[in-house]
Amino acid sequence: MKKLLTTAAVAALMVGGGGIGSVQAKTFVKIGTGGQTGVYYQVGQAICRLVNRDKKADINCTAPSTGGSVANLNALRAGELSMGVAQSDWQYHAYNGTSKFKSKGAFKELRAVFSVHPEPFTVVARKDSGIKSFMDLKGKRVNIGNVGSGQRGTMEVVMGKLGWTMGSFKLATELKSSEQAKALCDNKVDAIVFTVGHPNGSIKEATTSCAAILIPVTGAAITKLAADNDFYAPATIPGGMYRGTAGDIKTFGVGATFVSSSKVDDKIVYAVVKAVFGNIKRFRRMHPAFAKLEEKHMITNMLSAPLHAGALKYYKERGWK
Ligand code: GLU
Repeated sequence: MKKLLTTAAVAALMVGGGGIGSVQAKTFVKIGTGGQTGVYYQVGQAICRLVNRDKKADINCTAPSTGGSVANLNALRAGELSMGVAQSDWQYHAYNGTSKFKSKGAFKELRAVFSVHPEPFTVVARKDSGIKSFMDLKGKRVNIGNVGSGQRGTMEVVMGKLGWTMGSFKLATELKSSEQAKALCDNKVDAIVFTVGHPNGSIKEATTSCAAILIPVTGAAITKLAADNDFYAPATIPGGMYRGTAGDIKTFGVGATFVSSSKVDDKIVYAVVKAVFGNIKRFRRMHPAFAKLEEKHMITNMLSAPLHAGALKYYKERGWK
């Protein structure tokens, strides 16, 4: 009988959890990321590579591209993802049922796992657009990002503070992060926004394919926004990172955080956290945006939902909590 089973049938039985004979049930972990030219995608790929290396854990980890933070939080809530990457502002609002998450109510099962890299709110403009400051975006063609992305939500918050609406722009487009560098260089839009770790492929693409510069996001409203909310912080994008922008760029930013749900088994989150922190040096080398990550900051900074019990168990074992 066993001989007659096809590979697909065996896989189905394994997913079912029963297993046949010595075949153990494999655990499937799906991590929500972002666009392929962003850093979330790299976070997901890096974590899965470390998790999948650990043969004993027997986890099959995948990290597909998604619409970004808000899409990940919604999919986590719907049980379609086991984990995901999300901006610190949207982690806070999802857990508390505020801002964009008001109509859905508080997502009380949301759990923080660790924080990753800082994400400055980044604006890039075509050099020939004449845009020099964030205020200059008024009346221009701006990609405000796809619905479901973190930058779209954060852009709406900033617009709200400035009293802007969609009508404040000549054109407001909703392109995904992976599409916007091309749109900028094809002169379809004058500027793009992206809340993202640096350096990243998308901003590199924009600044090397055409003459484009990074724009500061400053002013009283921005200073107040960062001062009033723990999930925001002043941020600087170092000069010289991208072609055309030699000086430091001042803006504000969020933290990229790794989240899960209390409905996800403690053992699974424990195994994932162990794969990352047990190989932190390797993890740091997996992307330049991870190079400076420090364990003690990762387990405390920018986290507003309670820590997942599986993660807490590991942090306690390491003597960190
Ligand atoms: N912060 C962005 C978002 O929440 C994604 C950034 C990235 O792809 O690295 O959608």
